[in-house]
Amino acid sequence: MAENGGKNAKVFVIGGGPAGLMAAIQSARGVRKVKLLERGPGTARKLLLTGEGRCNLTSTLRPSEVIEQVFTGASFLYSALYQFTPEDTRRFFEDRGLKLKKERGRRLYPASDRAEDVKRILLEEAERQGVEILTGVEVKEIITSGQEVRGVKIKGGRVLPARAAVLATGGKSYPGTGSDGSGYQLAVRLGHKLAEPELALVPLKVKENWTKEAAGLKLKNVELSLFYRESKIFSSCGEFIIEENKITGAEALRLSCHITGPDYHNYRILVDLKPALTREKLEKRLQRDFDRYSNKHFKNALGDLLPAYLRPVVVRKSGIRPERVCHQITAGERESLVRLLKGLELNVTGKGSENEAIITAGGIAAADINPGTMESRIVRGLYCAGEVLEPAAYTGGHNLQIAFSTGYLAGSQIN
Ligand SMILES: Cc1cc2nc3c(=O)[nH]c(=O)nc-3n(C[C@H](O)[C@H](O)[C@H](O)COP(=O)(O)OP(=O)(O)OC[C@H]3O[C@@H](n4cnc5c(N)ncnc54)[C@H](O)[C@@H]3O)c2cc1C
Repeated sequence: MAENGGKNAKVFVIGGGPAGLMAAIQSARGVRKVKLLERGPGTARKLLLTGEGRCNLTSTLRPSEVIEQVFTGASFLYSALYQFTPEDTRRFFEDRGLKLKKERGRRLYPASDRAEDVKRILLEEAERQGVEILTGVEVKEIITSGQEVRGVKIKGGRVLPARAAVLATGGKSYPGTGSDGSGYQLAVRLGHKLAEPELALVPLKVKENWTKEAAGLKLKNVELSLFYRESKIFSSCGEFIIEENKITGAEALRLSCHITGPDYHNYRILVDLKPALTREKLEKRLQRDFDRYSNKHFKNALGDLLPAYLRPVVVRKSGIRPERVCHQITAGERESLVRLLKGLELNVTGKGSENEAIITAGGIAAADINPGTMESRIVRGLYCAGEVLEPAAYTGGHNLQIAFSTGYLAGSQIN
C-alpha cells in the first residue's frame, strides 16, 4: 500500500517550507527515517521570495523581544522561541558556512543577498541527516486510529503508514508558491479548531479618491492611528506609500495586522502628517509660513510644509479658498488646517489580495496544540509548525524565526 519506499517510514513532514525543512532536519537526528512530502515541484519556493529575494531570515533580538513583535498568539511561542532562539538560527546557518550581515539595526540577511543560499543550507543539512525529500506529492488526509497518527493519504489515494507527522503546510498567501490554505483542512478534519485565517502584512484598500492624485507618494515620519468605530486600537510611526485607493509600505502593512474582516468599513485611519509638532507648535508654524508668504495665495503657501502631490489635496480638504491671500487667513481657518494636518482621514474598504499578503495571521488554534512540544492535544503523533499555526508577527525576520523555532521544537520531540 505504501509507495516511494514509505513502508518503513516512521515520520512524514508535510510541506517543504522553512518550518518543514527544519522539522525534518531535527527529527532525522533522532529517528531512522524521515520523509518530507512537498506538493510543489520544489521545496521552499516562498522562502526564495523573502526579503525581496534577499531573505531576512532572523534578527539579533532576544526571544522576549521577538515575542513583542508577535501580534497574535504571542504567549504560545515562548517555549519554541527559547528552545531555538534567533541566536541559534544565526549559529545554525553560520556553522554551515553561510555568512550573515546585519541591516537596519537588527535584521539578519545572508551576506550574499541571496535567499537561495538559505534554502541551499537547509537542503544540504536535510541531506546530511538523511531526510528523503519527495516533491510533487500532495497530502490529502492524515490517517488516524484511536486519535493517533497512522499514516498520510496522498493525492491519488495511496496511504503511507507513519507513526508521526508534522503539519507544516504554511498559510494562504502567495498561493502560487504552494501554500494556498488547503493545509488547514487536514487539521480541521481531525477536530482541530481554526482561528480564522486573515491576510496580514498586506496593503490596505481605502475609499478616498484623492489618493489617485498623490499616487506614488511616500510619506515619511508620519503617525498612523487606526480606529475601529470610535476606538483607537493601534498606532505607529514611520512611513507609508499612497497608491490609487490603496496604501502600502511599512506602516500600512503593520496596521493591516490589526484589521479583520468582513466589516472593513468600521476601520478608519487618521494620518498625523506632523507628529513631531504639537497642535500649538503647528499653529505657530503655520502662522510663520503665512506671514512669510503674506501676499501669496493660500494654494502656493504650503511648499515648506508638504510634498507637492499632497498640497492640492490638503488645500481642497481644508475648505479655505485656494486663492485666498495668506494674510487674510483667519485663526479659525488655521485651526481647521491644523486639525486636517494632524488627522488626514483614510477609510478602509478592504485588504489587498492573497497575492500581495506577506503572511496569514490565524490558523490552527494555538489552544489545540501543546506549546511545549508542538504536538496536537487532539491527535497523538501529530505535530504542527510554522505559519499554519495561529501566531503571526510583524516584519523583521520574525516569521521565519517562528518557522524555524516551531519546526525545531516539533522535530526534536519525535524519536
Ligand atoms: C513576498 C514575501 C516576503 C517575505 N519576506 C519575509 C522575510 O524577509 N522574513 C521573514 O521572516 N518572513 C518573510 N515572509 C514570510 C515567510 O516567508 C513565511 O512566514 C514562511 O515561509 C512560513 O514558512 P512555513 O514553512 O510555515 O510555510 P511555507 O513557506 O508557506 O511552506 C509551506 C509548504 O507546504 C507545501 N504544502 C502545502 N500544502 C501541502 C500539502 N497538502 N502537501 C504537501 N505539501 C504542501 C507548500 O507547497 C509549501 O512549500 C515573506 C513572505 C512573502 C510572501
